[in-house]
Amino acid sequence: MSPLERHLASEDRAEDNGQISPDERLTCHVHGRWIHQCVSSSTHVNQVTRHRWCRSCNTALTVVVDELSLTVLMSCPRCGGGRSAATTRLLAACRASISFARKKPRHLSAVA
Ligand SMILES: [Zn+2]
Ligand SMILES: [Zn+2]
Repeated sequence: MSPLERHLASEDRAEDNGQISPDERLTCHVHGRWIHQCVSSSTHVNQVTRHRWCRSCNTALTVVVDELSLTVLMSCPRCGGGRSAATTRLLAACRASISFARKKPRHLSAVA
């Protein structure tokens, strides 16, 4: 099992148990990846919860991920804004997933 698969499985369980919300996950159960690797997919746009959605422009936010500097930016291509509390949580999850994925957990792979 890779670190990703292990984390995915534990977050599936935590979510099923009501311990974490879907937008707090560092992994994506739809794409089977770290959240920062697939957050630019249109699947991660939600007009109801306003994840990656600019309501005033009716437009999905574009995503820029820079894994080296741990930077994730989301902005509306029309007005340059479009922030919401939901998008802020998604950004935090993306930053956390980048730093988590970059760690080389030697002790874990040694056990496996
Ligand atoms: Zn995904
Ligand atoms: Zn906008």
